[in-house]
This record gives sequence, structure tokens and C-alpha cells, in this order.
Amino acid sequence: MKKRILLPDDERITQWYNVMPDIPNGILPPLNPANNEPLTPDVMAQIFPMGLLEQEMSVDRQIDIPEEVLDIWSIWRPSPLIRANFLEQKLGTKARIYYKYEGVSPSGSHKTNSAVAQAYYNKREGVKRLATETGAGQWGSALSFATHKFGLECKVYMVRVSFDQKPYRKSMINTYGATIVASPSPDTPTGREYLERDPNSPGSLGIAISEALEDASSREDTKYALGSVLNHVCIHQSVIGLEAKKQLAMVGEKADVVIGCCGGGSNFAGLAATFVPDKLNGQDIRLIGVEPASCPSLTKGIYAYDFGDVSARTPLLYMYTLGHDFMPPGIHAGGLRYHGMSPIISALLREKIIEARSAHQLECFDAAVLFAQTEGIIPAPESSHAIRAAIDEAMREPDKPQTILFNLSGHGLLDLASYDKFFAGALQDFAYPEEAVEEAKKTLPKV
Ligand SMILES: *Cc1c(COP(=O)(O)O)cnc(C)c1O
Repeated sequence: MKKRILLPDDERITQWYNVMPDIPNGILPPLNPANNEPLTPDVMAQIFPMGLLEQEMSVDRQIDIPEEVLDIWSIWRPSPLIRANFLEQKLGTKARIYYKYEGVSPSGSHKTNSAVAQAYYNKREGVKRLATETGAGQWGSALSFATHKFGLECKVYMVRVSFDQKPYRKSMINTYGATIVASPSPDTPTGREYLERDPNSPGSLGIAISEALEDASSREDTKYALGSVLNHVCIHQSVIGLEAKKQLAMVGEKADVVIGCCGGGSNFAGLAATFVPDKLNGQDIRLIGVEPASCPSLTKGIYAYDFGDVSARTPLLYMYTLGHDFMPPGIHAGGLRYHGMSPIISALLREKIIEARSAHQLECFDAAVLFAQTEGIIPAPESSHAIRAAIDEAMREPDKPQTILFNLSGHGLLDLASYDKFFAGALQDFAYPEEAVEEAKKTLPKV
């Protein structure tokens, strides 16, 4: 048995896979909220470079990965595929469990894959500076690293609560040479407005997105970057699945079940979408996205046009959503707190090509601790949702010799405070109330 399956350099992936042309009945375009008309590239060009906008609307299945991106990726890519045999033994299952480990990237998660690509396309078009928001800090640190590699400046608006709770993310962002402020900040009109109302405002992802967007639109040299949800981000992440398929083939395996955790959907799309052509060709394979029970956009949300941010400033995306003013419960420590879901993942669920399920945070931390004690790696709380589902699948029919593949999207070494809370019994489960779905319906934009 091979524990660690490494893809040789001459087998490395040089083209991304874009699932959009393969989705039956396609996906509906984003709308301009001013007139409910499909968005034209020139409107979006104020905040994103054309190279990324072309990918956003691309009908090409294969897209060349620029040499400059491959070059930086070579620091950690190809990432290893690892057989979780110690976990299998502990569980007593005949299932063979493999995980693709994205925690080997410099900033510790899959987000670096897209950050490098986004920095590259901005640099190519003469952009000098990027503005972005970050919740838990993973995207902010990934983009700080990537922008520095291309000689761009970067400003990160980090949600105040996380800024205070995760000081080492701030240290990382500073180390990579980016500028970081807690949001709400005194640096933008929206930030000042919220600070005036409440100088101790904990902030929210919505406020931080608004601040980064204002920053980008107020300066000629600056554009905006988003770390999940959008089509171009999902395309960049396809390298995860393309590598994993080759690595499985190297040990004579084919996945029966493919699992990923879902926040905005990019790491799950990156892994699972590459198996969609096989599934459409009749292969018996299940693709399972796992989200937190406290933020269940795929399993309890509404499929409709909605804003991407709390302040209702972004284009309208057709997606499963809990309503753009959804506030995640404070007790939730498990990450994955976005109100919507990537339009690609949403359309794949509508077509029943993927399945969705939710998991509670305590059972996810249980799975994370079991994983850490058997395989050694302490997972990001987000990734623990995938581990939970992988274990459940392996134990549903423990005598079935199936092959399970899941994405370990990041390590949890900067999330140890959440583990401390879990061990101290300070975390609780929270089921999303049914009434909230009805409430959310009222907030959806009329299209
Ligand atoms: C951001 C993040 C996620 C969730 O984002 P997706 O776009 O759904 O992939 C999951 N895992 C880790 C480690 C993250 O940093």
C-alpha cells in the first residue's frame, strides 16, 4: 500500500477544467441590480481584470494555466494525495479513504491556488493594488502572499471579531507585506459610518466586502478580489480534482464517493466538478458537498437571485441562499459562514449531479480530533465537515470495499483557539430555524 501519492512534475496539470459548458441546462447569468438585465463585462471591468471576466463567462472546457502561475504553484504543487489508512484501521472499515491535502500551500489552504492566478491576471493588465476582505483570514493571507510575488500592493479588510480572535493571521499578512485593517475601519465611508454608530462594532463579512469594494472603486490603480463563490475561482481550483484523478489512477483506484466542505463552494467545486463528465457518462460516482447545519444554504436555502453581500451592492447571483442579510450565529466556530453558494455548485445540485448534506459543529470537531490522532494533521474547522462525511460514508456499510476521496482544504494550526473552545465545552450545536427560511424569502430582490 502506498501512503503518500505524489504526482511527478512531468505529469503536472497545465490546463484548468471549466465545468460550465457541461452543466445540463446551464447556469443563469449574473444580473445588474440597477435594471435586472444580464451584467455586461464593461460594468464588471471596473472591479475585475478582463482576464478573470473572460473566465467568469467562459464556454471553454479547457483553459491554459499561465506559466507564471505554474511557476509559483511549484512551491507546493502538485499537492499530495494521502491514503488515510490509520483512520481506516481505527474505524474498522473496508473502505479505502484518500484525502487530497491542500494545507501544504504557503498560507495553509486551497485559497492560495486562486490567489496566485488572480494576482497574475491583475498584474498583466497593469493593476497596481488589490483590495479584499477576509473573514477568518485564510483568503487575506493567501492574497497577501500572491500579490507580493507579483509586486502588487494589497489592502485587506478583516472582520473585527476575527482580527481580535486570530492575531496570527494578521502577523502572516504583515509578513507577506500587505496592509491590514480591522473592519469597520476609519479608511472608508462605510467603515466610518459603522464606527460612528458603534465604535466597538464586531464587523461582518458584509461590511468588509463593502469597504473593499469602495476602496477599489475609489482608486484608479486598484481592483477588487474575491476568494470564493465566483466561476473563475472555481475554475482555478479545478487543479485539485485534476491532480487527484491522476494520483488515484497511479495506484489503480477510481473514486466511488467524492466529498468536500462547502462555504462559498470553491474547494468542493475544484475537487468534485472534475468528476462531473464521468458521472454524465454513466459512471457510478457520488459527489457530496457538506455544509454547517447552522449555515445551510444548500440544504435549506432558496434557489433564487440574491446579492453577494449584506449591503446589497454586488451583482445578483442565481444561487442557493439564506438571504443576503443572514447573520451566522455567534456560537459557530466552524467556519463556512457565507449566506450563498457558488452558482456552479447551485446548478449542479439543481441537476441532482451533486448531493448536499449538513453537519453540526460538535460532530465535526469529533471527526477532526479523531483524524488528528490517527493521521496526525490537525484540520481546519472548515475541512472537518468533509472528514465527518467521509467517516459517515465509510461506516454506513463498513464491509463495502469502496473508494472514498475527500478534500482536506487546509490545516488548523491557526485555529487552535477553536479547538480549545471545543475541549472546554464552550461550543454548542445550532440548528437553523425553519422560520428563518420564510424570513429570508422576504429579503430577496424582486427579479
Ligand atoms: C475558505 C475556506 C473554505 C471554504 O471556502 P470554499 O470556497 O467553500 O472552499 C474551506 N476550507 C478552508 C480551509 C478555507 O480556508
